[in-house]
Amino acid sequence: MTRRRLSILGATGSVGSSTLDLVERYPERFEVVALTAARNMAALADAARRTSAKLAVIDDPLLLPELEERLSGTGCRSATGPEALREAAAGEAELVMAAIVGCAGLKPVMAAIEAGRTVALANKESLVTAGGLMTAAAEKSGSMILPVDSEHNAIFQCLAGNRSTDVARLVLTASGGPFRTKSRDEMAAMSPEQAVAHPNWSMGAKISVDSATMMNKGLELIEAHHLFDLPSDRIDILVHPQSVVHSMVEFVDGSVLAQMGSPDMRIPIAYALAYPERIGTPAERLDLGRIASLTFEVPDSERFPALRLARRALEEGGAAPIVLNAANEEAVAAFLDRRIAFLDICRTVEEALLRIGAAQPRSIAEVIDIDRRARALARELMSELAA
Ligand code: NAD
Ligand code: MG
Repeated sequence: MTRRRLSILGATGSVGSSTLDLVERYPERFEVVALTAARNMAALADAARRTSAKLAVIDDPLLLPELEERLSGTGCRSATGPEALREAAAGEAELVMAAIVGCAGLKPVMAAIEAGRTVALANKESLVTAGGLMTAAAEKSGSMILPVDSEHNAIFQCLAGNRSTDVARLVLTASGGPFRTKSRDEMAAMSPEQAVAHPNWSMGAKISVDSATMMNKGLELIEAHHLFDLPSDRIDILVHPQSVVHSMVEFVDGSVLAQMGSPDMRIPIAYALAYPERIGTPAERLDLGRIASLTFEVPDSERFPALRLARRALEEGGAAPIVLNAANEEAVAAFLDRRIAFLDICRTVEEALLRIGAAQPRSIAEVIDIDRRARALARELMSELAA
């Protein structure tokens, strides 16, 4: 078997570590060519040594000398900067795991797509901000985008062997997050620690807060629109607290297919890594007899305004999804830093959406420009809130 040459962008994060966990179990299948990280230099160096990677890219230039020292004698090159990140994404790899968090992942993902690489996409923020440009570029280069987000991976699995013209609607399931049963008054006092304590999934801090506000599901709605080319009114959201049914597809004949499994990201990651084959994972087997009951609830967009804001941004189009995402990234960072309260996250996003209107961007440079303006505005809005 020839090994697939793989790059992992964001190798030290939650999705990146789960990817490494799988890849290291199958050395005969995968050859790691490049790994990247923002600041966790020790974990990056460690992973590069274990996998015999050829290139390790660290975002923080101050950490480069120590990375070089740690990798001396291994044959792994150390680098920093946008050109190195680009090389990690579009160089030798055939398959790129895009697991950087936030809009920071956009440029490398685009580079991989333009170079015709297969992209296992976890970085939902890139699709939310530049989905149209990404899918057009993939069509042009022949790049394949394999969704890693568990809901989209579930839908992708349900679609296998079916015609997209036979799809009636998609149903994205949501756990409801740690505040599913909380009132707005209770949410107002929630701390970062309480917000990141997700009941079912273990994930990075940003997406955990997004799950608490349910902005994560809002971003996933926009992500689903781009991946599966369906309008907002054919994508439903359903709260399912057990996180066993990862999403569903309803077909024109009334059949509904669902994909189920334990809430372990190694399952969708494995599907993307081995596609179109399957590989074993150490994920806990689903024991429905023990779980006994699966429940579903209609989401409450009064308590979770992020759902309404994201749907509105998708329907409005233009720059709205970029503003939604940028203001949310800034507000989540401020909340994690204890500069704003939990409910201020969506207040900031809502206000930013009202104040910035811009046309549909035609290039990644325009996307990045709108992203920058929306972040500056969000920071201003938050300092007004704090005053
Ligand atoms: P994380 O915070 O655990 O890891 C993020 C990774 O990106 C780290 O390796 C970090 O070093 C790197 N990074 C962060 N900022 C960077 C920057 N400015 N430049 C370069 N690298 C940077 O995040 P995560 O939870 O693994 O999530 C990664 C992506 O996958 C997110 O877009 C998230 O929405 C998506 N996702 C995650 C999960 C999950 O279970 N964690 C599930 C579905 C989708
Ligand atoms: Mg998800």
